[in-house]
Amino acid sequence: MVKHFFCSRKLCSVLSTCLAIGLLSACASDISSKESSSNTSYSGNISTHTSSVLVSNDFSSYQQAQKLAHDQGYIYEGQFTPYQGSSSRIYGSTAAGCIEGSSELSDQKEEFQLQRWAAGRNYAHPLMLQYLADLRHRTKDLGLPPLLIGDLSRVLGGPYGQKSNHASHNTGIDVDLPFDFALPRKTPSELSSPKDVYIVKGTKIQPTFTKSIEVYIKTAASDPRVDRIFVAPMIKKHMCLLYQDKEHNGFLQKLRPWFGHQAHMHVRLKCPFDSPECVSQAPVPQGTGCGYEVDSWFLPPPPKSGKAVAKKKERVLPQKCALLLKDNYL
Ligand SMILES: [Zn+2]
Repeated sequence: MVKHFFCSRKLCSVLSTCLAIGLLSACASDISSKESSSNTSYSGNISTHTSSVLVSNDFSSYQQAQKLAHDQGYIYEGQFTPYQGSSSRIYGSTAAGCIEGSSELSDQKEEFQLQRWAAGRNYAHPLMLQYLADLRHRTKDLGLPPLLIGDLSRVLGGPYGQKSNHASHNTGIDVDLPFDFALPRKTPSELSSPKDVYIVKGTKIQPTFTKSIEVYIKTAASDPRVDRIFVAPMIKKHMCLLYQDKEHNGFLQKLRPWFGHQAHMHVRLKCPFDSPECVSQAPVPQGTGCGYEVDSWFLPPPPKSGKAVAKKKERVLPQKCALLLKDNYL
């Protein structure tokens, strides 16, 4: 079993191969299948909400948010829009699920611009829209430009399909945030044919990994609504070097190394309390994930395991989703 997102020997092997040939981005197809297999690999650990999860997912007040952040070893300083519940419902996991009653993120806001990798990918759970609005408020306070938003979910969620690199984004609580800003404002053609801005390439930090990007990643992760954020292993390592010896570094725990993610971070929120059929992923391991854990992503592959690749498991949608998606998408 893949131990959450800690680098297993097999995965390290694949990553090391990618690093060795300097073609991390070219490993993208492998990356999506790894994410997919890993997302399904937690089937032994998945849990629907228990009373303790309900408590930890209480986003009803700023005080509660501060307490959650404090308990996890960081400080939450951002604006916080309390979540009091909605008619939106999530079924299943981000890797095999759907959403009823999603909300559309408007492209008309001054503070955001939406990339259009394809049509109709700008829907999410209301909790996500609150998170993004609050993230923009906070980053604006810190002097950062308007944000660029990548893919969210489709109107009813569900898988993006075989041809997509997305192994998740099924339930409206995932968003890709490019390491780029909407300044200068992008043209319609720049939004429909987005250009990736890489802040690392393999093990090399790029000049595009600016102070603004560093602050952006830290701010995005320092929010109690966030379950985890996937970034390239070198990004995690760099953030560790910058923050592991500082106070209140608990946000580092939420930064999870994963293949790809050199030009964007993938933010995943926790299940909202009023979607009891939303399937949570196993919690991230305790600790910052710095030191050996992140370094293990850069170790050479174990002997004779070069071809060992986790077998892709078939993802099974909850019956409710299968019916919902069949009636509306097919
Ligand atoms: Zn993503």
